[in-house]
Amino acid sequence: MTEQTGQAWPSVMALVRRYGLVPKQSLGQNFLVDAAHLERIVAAAELTAADTVLEIGPGLGTLTARLAAQAGRVVAVELDNRLIDLLRADFADRPHVQFVHGDILTLDLGALVAPAMQYKVVANLPYYITSAALRHILEAAPRPTLAVVMVQWEVAQRICAAPGDLSLLAVSVQYYATPRLVQRVPAGAFYPAPKVDSAVLQLEVRPQPAVPDVPAARFFAVARAGFGQKRKQLANSLSAGLGLAKTVAQAALIAAGIDPTRRAETLTLAEWGALCRTLPG
Ligand code: SAM
Repeated sequence: MTEQTGQAWPSVMALVRRYGLVPKQSLGQNFLVDAAHLERIVAAAELTAADTVLEIGPGLGTLTARLAAQAGRVVAVELDNRLIDLLRADFADRPHVQFVHGDILTLDLGALVAPAMQYKVVANLPYYITSAALRHILEAAPRPTLAVVMVQWEVAQRICAAPGDLSLLAVSVQYYATPRLVQRVPAGAFYPAPKVDSAVLQLEVRPQPAVPDVPAARFFAVARAGFGQKRKQLANSLSAGLGLAKTVAQAALIAAGIDPTRRAETLTLAEWGALCRTLPG
């Protein structure tokens, strides 16, 4: 782990020393120390002065400061009550930055950024809430137009997988957004260093979900059933997951143009959509 010097903003290590802060592992506090990676996250957010940014977990405010330098407004939600007053004091000279104390998973994203109707999400996500946070972001009303998130390297790879290697996580994210792997980030770029590498992921949120004519609840009920029994042929996993006779699942697969012996990880989003239309219920 290298401490960056000569930055326009205080480094993580200077802030940790100044506040005598012991990072809380239970809150996923792995602060991003490396300034070049902080800059890359901000670049991937493609900010202009017209943007409202929602940041999840500002921590010591190192990413927040860079976002504030480019965006018209930043709303940052932090769960750690030790940090909120420090952040508010540090950013007192920047009234376009607002800190909210709370758990992002319990907050309404649309209400946080109101009256803005368009916004971007940027986050070095605490890893223990990765899946829940992605779901919360992508199912928000309104959804952000873009999200740039730091996640574990292996999770980023799974999200960006192509048909053949898809998982329920990948299908869920790709239903709402087009993912792009921006950059691998070594564990040593954080303080304290986590056990595994991370990656910056850019999610370009679709104006409409990938299968717009099928309600999301139906789409995910079918996809969950399909992925319910790992490595099983689809006719079996769908019949078990949806409580259908195997012959009914087979007929629906054939009607959708899908070989019933295929496995869930091979289906494209369009094929999941076709299946939702041919399955009963
Ligand atoms: N943004 C900082 C950075 O890049 O160094 C900190 C990132 S650190 C990985 C994650 C931050 O999220 C921590 O500050 C942690 O306290 C905060 N956090 C953890 N759980 C949270 C939650 N449910 N809602 C909001 N913030 C949370």
